[in-house]
Amino acid sequence: MPADAVFLALAVVTAGTAGYLAGGFVHAIATRLPAGQMALGPPVCTSCSGEPVRGNAWLIVPGACSRCGRNDRRMALATQLAGALASALALLRYGITRDALAVALFSLLLLLILRIDWEHHLIFTITIVPGIGLALLLATLESPATLLSATVGGLGAAAVFGLFFLLGILIYRRAALGAGDILLAGLIGTMTGVRSVVPALFLGMATAAGIGIVLVALRRKSRMDYIPYGAYLCAGTIVALFLWGPAG
Ligand SMILES: [Zn+2]
Repeated sequence: MPADAVFLALAVVTAGTAGYLAGGFVHAIATRLPAGQMALGPPVCTSCSGEPVRGNAWLIVPGACSRCGRNDRRMALATQLAGALASALALLRYGITRDALAVALFSLLLLLILRIDWEHHLIFTITIVPGIGLALLLATLESPATLLSATVGGLGAAAVFGLFFLLGILIYRRAALGAGDILLAGLIGTMTGVRSVVPALFLGMATAAGIGIVLVALRRKSRMDYIPYGAYLCAGTIVALFLWGPAG
């Protein structure tokens, strides 16, 4: 094998392994925050909320809860494999660049927000604000123009979602979107920048609407049922980052 191919294979395996371990942290945080725990630490049982899951090798193979026997291993493994896949694909897509690092880190964070919103219908500010800081930092490292694009993208997306929020209250007399969705839109705009913020948000909203229509048609859901928009927005943004890259 030529040296270049060996180097690329090693880089992909390294990125995949790092993504797998980072996925373990994502799983741990996704169980801890909804249980009212600090973000960092071992995963807690989702049944007896707050009890740490037994087993010290949780980053590699999380164990079952010693109190109730609940095993979140499948969810943990799915999250870890998604982290591994996103990191390896980011490297293959963008090479060893700032863009690859940004897309891998952003995907891991969006995976965390997606999981919590999907399972608990909650968006935690502590998952958004450090992400905005990270996105602005990575944009600053690139160029002043990138920082401007990230800032305008974030503020613009948050403003548009803020308007949706107000319209929802005026029309439906209740909040159709959560305040967390406004923050999330701001985070997404900061990650994608001005260039691809609109298609990124559109991907998520169109998927949510499409699945919502199918579920109502199949009578699985009524039109007033809750839709975890945040989770769809995160999924759409991950796809957008792989198609068009981060703010640049
Ligand atoms: Zn338990």
